[in-house]
Amino acid sequence: MRVTGIIARRGIVLNACVMIGGADLQRADTLTANRQVKDHDVPTHTLYLLNLGQLGSRDPETGETHFNQVPGYLIRSAAGKTILVDTGNPTALIGAETAAPWWDLACNTQSQDDLPQRLGELGLGVEDIDLLISTHFDFDHCGRHDAFAGSDITSLVQRSQLELARDDPRFDDALWDVPGITYQAVDGDLELEPGLRLLATPGHVVGHQSVYVETVDGPVILAIDAIAVAEQMTMPRFPSTTPDAEAALASRDRLLQMAEETGGYIIRGHDDAQWNTLPHSPQSFARPATT
Ligand SMILES: [Zn+2]
Repeated sequence: MRVTGIIARRGIVLNACVMIGGADLQRADTLTANRQVKDHDVPTHTLYLLNLGQLGSRDPETGETHFNQVPGYLIRSAAGKTILVDTGNPTALIGAETAAPWWDLACNTQSQDDLPQRLGELGLGVEDIDLLISTHFDFDHCGRHDAFAGSDITSLVQRSQLELARDDPRFDDALWDVPGITYQAVDGDLELEPGLRLLATPGHVVGHQSVYVETVDGPVILAIDAIAVAEQMTMPRFPSTTPDAEAALASRDRLLQMAEETGGYIIRGHDDAQWNTLPHSPQSFARPATT
């Protein structure tokens, strides 16, 4: 057990409570360090990395297309909840060569990459999901929200993203505004359980959010698009589609600092080189030996 993770958990300052989906959720606005505590009651959650397809772009110099993962994440929480983070590529992209009509990217998504198939590998169906976390509504993150049509599930999304998505054509309503999903607007960070919380990381889009989760193999930060690729760890360079580069930089710096303070392992949102070093579902997450 990593001492650094314990410090992070015990250092959470809880100063507000909200009710979501009938469960008490506590707001974590501030992190402080308390290095006096012992490691006797640290909760851990089991994390699975779901491979929900690939998207690629062409290198202008070599002409070759490099593909990166489209991820989803499943968390079996310490309190017994089954929580899904994002739903991956739309069904329409299975077998497609490009991500049209959504984005001008190459696509490599096969039938086994479809969300229900991946859940099935864990012995789960969409009806087993207790809570859906929507990090944001780009097509490759909400593409299979339609699997929850009629399910009466709650999805947590930042309020600013939810409000923007209704008007901004970047976000395809047909993908995310699905009858049966009740969106619960979140303002800022939110603790779902001890050692499991949403992190507001705006910049890639307004209202983007990441996830912090303490696993048996230490704390993990699911950066999503706040840190999508390895280069962004060291260089403040973001795609041209980033609406607020200043906010994106601040969010990146926040996650880097959190990783340093907690010993957290950052999983980058679309970094195939890293992704290929990690165990994927149905295996649970474990840190690679060398990073
Ligand atoms: Zn993304």
